[in-house]
Amino acid sequence: MSDTRNTHAELVQRVAALEAERALTLRLAQTDSLTGLVNRGAFTAALCDRLEAARAGGGAVALFVVDLDRFKHLNDTLGHHAGDLLLAELGQRLRGDCSETEIAARLGGDEFAIISDVADVARRAQRLVNLVSQPQVIYGRQVSPGASVGVAVYPHDAADASDLQRFADMALYRVKTKGGRRFSIFDAELRAESERRRTLEEELRRAIPAGEIEPWFQPVIDSGTGAVVGVEVLARWNHPDQGLLAPAAFVPMAEELGLIRAIDEAVFDAACRRAAAWVAEGLIELVSCNVSPRDLLDPGFSRKLIGRLDRTDLPATALTVEITETFLLQDLGLARRHIERLAARGVRVALDDFGTGYSNLRALMHLPIQTVKLDRSLIADVGRDARVSKLVASMLHAARALGVSIVAEGVEDEAQALFLRSTGCDRMQGYFFARPMCGDAMDAQLREAAAQAEPARAARRAAR
Ligand code: C2E
Ligand code: CA
Ligand code: CA
Repeated sequence: MSDTRNTHAELVQRVAALEAERALTLRLAQTDSLTGLVNRGAFTAALCDRLEAARAGGGAVALFVVDLDRFKHLNDTLGHHAGDLLLAELGQRLRGDCSETEIAARLGGDEFAIISDVADVARRAQRLVNLVSQPQVIYGRQVSPGASVGVAVYPHDAADASDLQRFADMALYRVKTKGGRRFSIFDAELRAESERRRTLEEELRRAIPAGEIEPWFQPVIDSGTGAVVGVEVLARWNHPDQGLLAPAAFVPMAEELGLIRAIDEAVFDAACRRAAAWVAEGLIELVSCNVSPRDLLDPGFSRKLIGRLDRTDLPATALTVEITETFLLQDLGLARRHIERLAARGVRVALDDFGTGYSNLRALMHLPIQTVKLDRSLIADVGRDARVSKLVASMLHAARALGVSIVAEGVEDEAQALFLRSTGCDRMQGYFFARPMCGDAMDAQLREAAAQAEPARAARRAAR
């Protein structure tokens, strides 16, 4: 009898211990270890629960997303440990500031969120901005990162958790682009933007397989002879209602949605097919294609590109792939592998938008990059601003020393063209010579130029 009781008591104890352990594991799994706040996973679950309850009981739920304005700077200057201390302190402050019914979470990095039932969201948001902006002392130094807050409310703004988060993020993004240190509440302006984006997103998904995204071409001019020696391929969306759309209207969104590769591939295939004839007939020598930094992060990018190229009639030696420095900085090892693989097949690589970022001619010495494209922003002031002219002249000089050829982009007037020619820039591109045009217009222009040049060519042949 006593044996049975013992066993029973033991069992109860074991079950209690197991339950305590399970609760602890569960709490740890839901807690952000640095700040002690609820973590992202638990936050999403809690938000869904709150919305469920509000749906049943007819209440409202406000979501505040908080993002530090200068965290990266602080992290970089004071070090990661100091950054961690700052986040931990903020976590404590946020927890201390929340009421019984509010939940504070760390979503990751320097991003926090509060789920709340307050009615006066503007006042609550301002209190959060103030709370996070209060200076902290870290390693004896006073730091104040400043914060931006975005707010959206269920059911007023959004009907579910994912929209509520998206809308609060949109409000946050808007205030950040305006300099931060304030809060912003989702409103009609953001709703209109969100609807525009959603429509555009659906249309873009449809447009790619429908072949609405097509290559346009901008001539590249030889500075010495003034002749068209190549073309840069630029994507255009032939939108059924909105007409022709430039990349600014859809490339950033396509990158966000993971659609950019499909676009780049479609544009590349169509452009190569079209331009192969121009190259074969000797109308141009070079075809330059843009690729997104996102494409380049795919380790298979260069192999796939070569495969696609092989299925067209364009010779590899006529192709230039334009990449930006952003990518070189992101992953130099991968960049080198792609560039070397392309170079081995005779495909050239050009560094685009040179002169805008951390432009570093030295990096070029260690990579088989044959061309740099001087950014439009530099060209705009060339021949007008003596300092810019000098800078461009010295870049041209350095590039020559490295055996790299230079293409100037965005040449809009004669003064710029003359200056660039006199300083030895190899090739030029810009509205002064020609705007981007559709394949048919490019074809017509190339043939007309060839016809005009024919008598001169014939004369040269006869003279030999
Ligand atoms: P980018 O590669 O720097 O292309 C040059 C841009 O400058 C083009 O704008 C061109 O139309 C414009 N441009 C050329 N000459 C002049 C000029 O004299 N003055 C002015 N103000 N602008 C000039 P676009 O076509 O709107 O393309 C913008 C950007 O979109 C491109 O910049 C490139 O980064 C990207 N892009 C274009 N096509 C593709 C594509 O097929 N794939 C990817 N991933 N990106 C693309
Ligand atoms: Ca380009
Ligand atoms: Ca460029």
